[in-house]
Amino acid sequence: MKRSQFLKNALLSLGATVVLAACGGGDTATTPVENGGEATAGPWVVGTEPAFPPFESQDENGELVGFDIDLMRAIGEQAGVEVEFESLPFDGLIPALQAGTIEAAISGMTITEERAQTVDFSRPYFRAGLAIAVAEDDTETTSLESLEGKTIAVQIGTTGAATAGTVKDATVSTFDSAPLALQELSNGNADAVINDAPATLDAIATGNIGGVKVVGELLTEEFYGIAMPQDSPNLEALNTALAELLENGTYDAIYEKWFGTAPVGTLPEAAL
Ligand code: GLN
Repeated sequence: MKRSQFLKNALLSLGATVVLAACGGGDTATTPVENGGEATAGPWVVGTEPAFPPFESQDENGELVGFDIDLMRAIGEQAGVEVEFESLPFDGLIPALQAGTIEAAISGMTITEERAQTVDFSRPYFRAGLAIAVAEDDTETTSLESLEGKTIAVQIGTTGAATAGTVKDATVSTFDSAPLALQELSNGNADAVINDAPATLDAIATGNIGGVKVVGELLTEEFYGIAMPQDSPNLEALNTALAELLENGTYDAIYEKWFGTAPVGTLPEAAL
């Protein structure tokens, strides 16, 4: 089975039917906005943590590849702004936005209330959710509650880490990236991983980790957004370009390339 086919089936069977927005169009994206000064002509330096395939990773030549990378490049083109990526740790992205050293961050980042206190998010661009991964021969783990007292590996600073922190008497071990957390499980040093379902399913599909399966239903429904500094003058141009790509078929083509299926349905215009 092709990797994309596997991912498609796995996502559908988890109930994570990913849907696409039919959204309004807009004018070309480089007009200055009123709030917070003029939109920058570019380049936009865009932070990403490239250890989260299929959203962002490095290929064998060290080039950035992934759904987020293609989408962000397309947004840059649509907005008429040059995009330059900068690799940063996931938990360093929001501090970098706050410090103003990057113009945007795209990194499979879930739009949350807490993050929205310190950064602004684009409209949602992807529907995801957390899943529990366990060893293939684990028959006990069926839910979050069944992880009580167990060891859970997570990526630091993620929604998966926050969810693991709610499990009674669990030992949560944190890693710098999702692949490292999954490796810990695969090595038998953790009982479970709580991570974004599409990323875990991709790691299984590509053989990046072995002996691991996903259990049960998705724990959450989450929406990814592109983060910008609060009151960024570029947010309007970003959202306009994203809306245009959702409408003109470019988003669908990028989606199909990475997930083997066209998105179905609609994304909400806001996640919070
Ligand atoms: N979606 C998760 C979060 O925002 C994980 C993101 C990631 O690891 N890149 O916390």
